[in-house]
Amino acid sequence: MKKGQRNAGRLAAGGVLALTVLALPQGACLCAELQTQGTRKEGFQSEFVARAEVEPQTETEMQTDEKFVVAIDPGHQGSDVDISGTEPVGPGASERKAKAATGTQGRFTGVPEYELDLEISLLLRDELEERGYEVIMTRENNDTAISNAERAQMAYEEGGDIFLRIHANGLDDSSVSGALAMVPSPQNPYVGDLAEESYALADCILSAYCEKAGFGSLGVQYYDDMTGINWSRLPVMILEMGFMTNESDDLRMADPEVQELMAEGIADGVDAYVRQK
Ligand SMILES: [Zn+2]
Repeated sequence: MKKGQRNAGRLAAGGVLALTVLALPQGACLCAELQTQGTRKEGFQSEFVARAEVEPQTETEMQTDEKFVVAIDPGHQGSDVDISGTEPVGPGASERKAKAATGTQGRFTGVPEYELDLEISLLLRDELEERGYEVIMTRENNDTAISNAERAQMAYEEGGDIFLRIHANGLDDSSVSGALAMVPSPQNPYVGDLAEESYALADCILSAYCEKAGFGSLGVQYYDDMTGINWSRLPVMILEMGFMTNESDDLRMADPEVQELMAEGIADGVDAYVRQK
């Protein structure tokens, strides 16, 4: 069940509880639920606390609610997918950017980035589900037409706790290699309040990924011009897994054995982040 549905269920259950057990007006619970929604961007923990204050829950319900939800966004889409037009770079922005970009391509393997992004994301989905996480995917094939802003909104609306965007890098200079993470800066006008949590998340994921899959790290970097980051309401990051324009990175990222390690490394990073909470 998606968290959105769970939210609705909780609201109904809370209403009944208020009337029958606590004899409180139904509005009391509705308020609490609204307040929960209002504090949503502070992260899953604050939401959980807000909810726990108003609703005693059975052990089973607690276990269900504690399931951490990872929203995965495989970058880009197939080259035949028609996503034309622009969208605001952030909520209320007058500046606009293309709804979607085509991404890079393996200089040595010829693999398009959108294929690699999806492949690793699907492995990551399976790995996270095996570890007990709930996973939301913004796309599960290469034919989905969804803009960057829509991806961020979907991650939130479907109940995600974190938003992981999976990409690979490209540069003219083929000597540049390694992985990096992009997060909003504290000065970001749209999601500056998510900067600290996003940085903590990116730090966990990037180091676990580089360690397990054997990629060099170029560090966590601030980017405030990414539509899919600026529309996020969850701790958000882009993992640039490596450079498809570098021979070693490109060949390794296409190797099924390395791909398993890449997915495991990212999942290790999610584990580390959740443990920190
Ligand atoms: Zn990309």
